[in-house]
Amino acid sequence: VAVTDRIAAPIDATLVTQAVTDSREHEHTIVRWRRDLHQHPEPGFGEFRTAALIQRELDALGLTVRIGGSAMDVDAIYSCDETRIEASAERARQQGVDSDLVDQLQREGTAVVADLVCGEGPTVAFRVDMDCLPVTEASDVTHLPAREGFRSLVEGEMHACGHDGHVAIGLGVASLLAKRRSSLTGTARFIFQPAEEGALGGARAITARGLVDDVDYLIAIHLGLGYPTGEVVARARFLVTSKFRARLAGAAAHVVNAPETGRNALLAAATAALGLHAIAPHGQGWFSVNVGVLRSGDEQGVTPAWALMDIGVWAETQAAHDYVVARVHEILHGAGSAHGVEVDIEQIGGAPAADDDEQLGQLVSATAAQIPDIDQVRDLIICRAGEDATVFLNRIAEQGRRGVYVLIGSDLAAGHHAHDFDFDERSLVTGTAMLTAVAGHLLQREVSG
Ligand SMILES: [Zn+2]
Repeated sequence: VAVTDRIAAPIDATLVTQAVTDSREHEHTIVRWRRDLHQHPEPGFGEFRTAALIQRELDALGLTVRIGGSAMDVDAIYSCDETRIEASAERARQQGVDSDLVDQLQREGTAVVADLVCGEGPTVAFRVDMDCLPVTEASDVTHLPAREGFRSLVEGEMHACGHDGHVAIGLGVASLLAKRRSSLTGTARFIFQPAEEGALGGARAITARGLVDDVDYLIAIHLGLGYPTGEVVARARFLVTSKFRARLAGAAAHVVNAPETGRNALLAAATAALGLHAIAPHGQGWFSVNVGVLRSGDEQGVTPAWALMDIGVWAETQAAHDYVVARVHEILHGAGSAHGVEVDIEQIGGAPAADDDEQLGQLVSATAAQIPDIDQVRDLIICRAGEDATVFLNRIAEQGRRGVYVLIGSDLAAGHHAHDFDFDERSLVTGTAMLTAVAGHLLQREVSG
């Protein structure tokens, strides 16, 4: 069956109006999902209750749902935090999530990839992330989730980046398209990715299952990121990023009786930390290096025999990134050798930069411009952040298909990752309408007359 590429076809205004009306009608449900997810935040690869909720809702809508091992390959991940995941699994079981499902997802991963199949035609995919952050949520009444009674039920875990909203939008778009499925042809795919924070490898693990290989158009989204309610950015690009954990192993000694037999891992780590923050700039692009964690030693009278450092690198260009990564290795090994300390460096996360598709960006812009609640549309911006949706975008681009990363503006109560972060829930409705209209356009069944 020959399928027309509808990317350049004129946008049907009725289709946009319908998406806006449907989205407003679903506002209550979309906000309810968001608030429920907000109360039950789960860490990367520990999104058990979240995945179960998504599976239940999408099953009910008649989508074909892949969950766990059929949606991702755990061997492709960089790293995960076993302690946080175990605590999350325990909570999920207590909250009534099927214990076998929790066990399965703990072994196989928490990704959910679901298809709304509407016959022959292109595949339009949406990627949203599901994980929270290790932050204790603000509890005072000036913080809306606390005031309205949907503050996180888990001390030390919080949806402080808006990923609860992303999941709600994903479910919203799926609901709206399912309702209109008789007017569509092709497939709408919803990719619910675990562990975006820290770029731990959730996107790689889903890509490893080939789940974007048959995708023609891919749209990844984020709320906020500095853009207010009513604004949309059609194409956001991100920095190249890598995350490392360095383990330094020295030798303990009595610091007064036999200090000469000690090998000081703390001093090696401290020397390396100063060196890492003093890497010379690169002529072909800005970069940033951060030693975010430095732990060492056990007791004041003992030469510190161990140290652990977590290091993040972000860069505008691959050249600058590769330069910094090479310097990171040299500095760590150099400081280690100066102190007679063994250094082991492990990559615990990472994401490339990615190209995007201008024409799909134009379709998003043109659609957004027709949504009454959107008053400003930007074409292309570069975010000072890493984001592993770029793994999907690169896979799509390699195959000559089209992908973009879209920002849905939202007024924020505080910055991303802050304990009093909150976004404007009106953006959920606007975002759902816009994405539904874009998918509706690309999957529109041609009426033969
Ligand atoms: Zn985020």
